[in-house]
Amino acid sequence: MSDTKYIFVTGGVTSSLGKGIIAASLAKLLQARGYRTTIQKLDPYINVDPGTLNPYEHGECYVTDDGAETDLDLGHYERFLNVRTSQANNVTTGRIYQSVIEKERKGEFLGKTVQVVPHITNEIKERIQILGNSGDYDIVITEIGGTVGDIESLPYIESVRQLLWELGEHNGIVVHLTLVPFLSAAGELKTKPTQHSVKTLMESGIKADILVCRTEHQISEDIKEKLALFCNVRKEAVIQSIDASTIYDVPLLMQEEGLDTVTLQKLNLPDDKEPNLDQWKEFLQRHKNPKDKVTIGLIGKYVELPDSYKSIQEAFIHAGAANEVDVEVKSIHSEHLSAKNIAKKLEGLDGILVAPGFGERGIEGKVTAVKYARENNIPFLGICLGMQMAVIEFARTVLGLEKANSTEMDKGTPDPVISLMEEQKSITDMGGTMRLGAWDCHLKEGSLVKEVYGTSDIEERHRHRYEFNNQYKEQMEEAGLVASGLNPKTGLVEVVEIPSHPWFVGVQYHPEYKSTVASPHPLFVGFVKAVLDHKQE
Ligand code: GLN
Repeated sequence: MSDTKYIFVTGGVTSSLGKGIIAASLAKLLQARGYRTTIQKLDPYINVDPGTLNPYEHGECYVTDDGAETDLDLGHYERFLNVRTSQANNVTTGRIYQSVIEKERKGEFLGKTVQVVPHITNEIKERIQILGNSGDYDIVITEIGGTVGDIESLPYIESVRQLLWELGEHNGIVVHLTLVPFLSAAGELKTKPTQHSVKTLMESGIKADILVCRTEHQISEDIKEKLALFCNVRKEAVIQSIDASTIYDVPLLMQEEGLDTVTLQKLNLPDDKEPNLDQWKEFLQRHKNPKDKVTIGLIGKYVELPDSYKSIQEAFIHAGAANEVDVEVKSIHSEHLSAKNIAKKLEGLDGILVAPGFGERGIEGKVTAVKYARENNIPFLGICLGMQMAVIEFARTVLGLEKANSTEMDKGTPDPVISLMEEQKSITDMGGTMRLGAWDCHLKEGSLVKEVYGTSDIEERHRHRYEFNNQYKEQMEEAGLVASGLNPKTGLVEVVEIPSHPWFVGVQYHPEYKSTVASPHPLFVGFVKAVLDHKQE
C-alpha cells in the first residue's frame, strides 16, 4: 500500500448541499500548502457514465482530456485545482457492476457466487485506490455521491468502512457534510438532523472525524459544542459552512474555520505551513471589483437549469475577472426565437454565445441568432452545435443553399454542410460513441484565433458526432467563412471564423471545459474583451 492519505467526503440530511464545492475547497487548501491533491467522485446511479443523462436531470456532462463523460463536479475540481482529471476520477455504480459482470463472464471469480460484499465492494475499493497507487498524489479526496442512508449508497459506505480499517488510523478520515437548518418559527438553528445523519453513518460502522455544517446563519459556540458532544467529534472539528456569495469564496471561508488545519492534524501531517492563496485572492479581488459590465446572451435549449451550462458560466467568471469586467450571462431559450422577434429578444446584448446541444428542438432559433450576430457585427462565439449552426446559417444566407442543414436534424438535406464521417455511419449505440476528449488542432497563421491563443498548436476537448463537411470548405472560404483551425491528422475543421466581422468564431470543441481560476481560457478572455470593446464603441 502506498503512503497516500485518503479523505472521504459523505453527505447527510439532504442532497444539494454542495459536497463537490466543499471537497474542491478542501483540496485547494491542501494543494496551497504544498500537498499534491486530487479528488474523485463516486456516483451511486446505475448509468455507466452521465453521458446519456438528460442535462435537465443531472446538469452538464463534463468531459476530461481522456474522453471520459463525467459528473459536473469534476469541472469544479479542475477549476479549483488547475489539475487535470481523468476517467479514474469519476466512477458510477453502473461502471462498477459492468466491470464485475465482465470479470464474472470471463470466469475470473473461479466459480464463486458473485456478491455485493465482497465483489462489488472490492471493485469499489480498487477504484478508490487507483489514484493513490499512481504515486502522483499525497492526498486523495473521495466524494461519495448521494446522502447517507440511501439504499444506493450502501456498498460505497461499506467499502469506505473496510478501507478505513485497512488503511489504519491517521491514513484515512471522514468529512461529513450536513445541514443545520434554521427554523424561523422557533428562531433557532436545529442540530437534530445532523445528529441523526451521524448516527446513520455510525450504524454502518463509520465515525465522522470532521463535520462541515451548511447553514444560512452563524453557528454559535454553544451549538458547536452541542454538535461536538452529540456527534462524537472534537469542537475544532465542527466547521461552519455559511452560504457564500460566490463558490470561489468557499476555500477562504473554510480556511478561516480551520478545515485544512484540523484535516492535517487528523491525518498526522504537518500543518505548520500556511497555504499560499495569493493568486486565488487576486482573482477574487478582480472578480469582485469589476470596472465595467457587459451582457452576453447564452442561446440554448436547456436554459431553465443553469447547471446545464455550468462550465460556460464559470468560464465567463474567469474571463470576466481577467478583463476586470462583470459578465452578466442572460439565458435565452432558442425555441422562442424567430426572424420576427429576434431584434426584440436580443436587444441590449453586447455579445452572443450559441450553446452546445443535441437534437432538432430549438435549432432554427439558434440559426436566427447567428444571423443576427453576423449581420449586426455583434461579437459571436459558437460552441459545438453553436459552431455547426453558424456554418448552416452561412451556407443558407451567404451561399444561398436554402436547405443546408446538419444530417443530425435533416437526414435528406440536399446540402449536408454538417454530417457524419463515413466510419461513424454504422454506429447505433448511444453511450460513449462520440468524438470525445482532447484532440490536436492547428491554428492558421494570421487568423483571429491564432492571435487570441497566442500559439499555433492547441489541444481541446470534444463531445460530438457530426463534423463540418469538407466538401463545402472551398466554397465557404471564398465567400468569407474561413476554416482557421484544423485537426492536423484528419483535416477535420475545428474552428471557423469570419475575418470581415469584428469577432465571429465557431469552435467544434468545448473550450469551457479547460477554463480554470489559475488559467482562464484564452478564447473566453478574448471574447469578453471583444464584447467589452463592442459595448464601449
Ligand atoms: N449534436 C451535435 C453533434 O453531435 C453537437 C454536439 C454538441 O454540441 N456537444 O455533433
